[in-house]
Amino acid sequence: MGRLVRVSKEHVFYSFDPGTPPAAKAAPGDLVEFECLDALGGQVTDERQALESIDWGRVNPATGPVYVDGAEPGDALAVRILSIELANQGVIVTIPGEGALPHRAREARTRICRIVGDSVEFLGFKLKARKMIGVIGVASSEKPPTGTPGRHGGNLDTRLITEGATVYLPVEFEGALLGVGDLHAVMGDGEVCVAACEAPGRVLARVGVVKGLAPRWPVVELGDSCYVLVSEEGLERAVKTAVEEVVGALSKALGLDWHDAYMLASLATDVEVSQLVDPRKTVRVRVPKDLVPPVELLRALASSGSR
Ligand code: CA
Ligand code: CA
Repeated sequence: MGRLVRVSKEHVFYSFDPGTPPAAKAAPGDLVEFECLDALGGQVTDERQALESIDWGRVNPATGPVYVDGAEPGDALAVRILSIELANQGVIVTIPGEGALPHRAREARTRICRIVGDSVEFLGFKLKARKMIGVIGVASSEKPPTGTPGRHGGNLDTRLITEGATVYLPVEFEGALLGVGDLHAVMGDGEVCVAACEAPGRVLARVGVVKGLAPRWPVVELGDSCYVLVSEEGLERAVKTAVEEVVGALSKALGLDWHDAYMLASLATDVEVSQLVDPRKTVRVRVPKDLVPPVELLRALASSGSR
């Protein structure tokens, strides 16, 4: 079932612009293998390398885009992440004036991390690897740079976008034009210093289309939960939008009035931080699947109308 479509790292782009010519075509059910550069475009491989010398026009490359047959505006593109394979070395950097503590970050520093099996070695500390995808998105009329997260997905930097997860993205243009990049060997929620263990590698995903159920914001399904991912310029605004979205969805899906849905959200959903350091901050709200099954959640998120 399904062909294997390969997209090499020669096909990278830097903005989720609907005008970007597709690098490949896939049909629902096909497997797509994305070969990805790291977030620095593979430009930094040595700790002595000065970050000042890199070409900032080549950071955050996404591989693709992939045109998915049958994906039309108003549909959800479903991307199931089957595997993430990484190189045996990653890099983390500090950048002056960046991260959650921009006033303290004065130095551009590079550290190479070794990736050995299930571990990431940083300064002699052995960390458990948590492979994930930083950038996954579809074309948007906003033409967002690949370093910016939003309704289209993009630089979501959410560690739950990992093997076994399904990412649902709202299709705005025919074919969706899916891109993937910015793989991480490990990252904590918040990504506080502005970078993770940035590594090149390959992602194998199965693409699908859920007709007519484009959520207003990306949804990630993983394990026993779904997560609604909202990215806004300020963290507080992101939290408000995300909670509003989920309360509206609970109300719609479960037939509750707003105040009852508000209380249920307070009891049964979790507000979590994905990242604090990108041009927009990303938060997620966890909704247990036994409360609202994924398709019902998508339906409620697609149809609850703008408030
Ligand atoms: Ca990122
Ligand atoms: Ca990254």
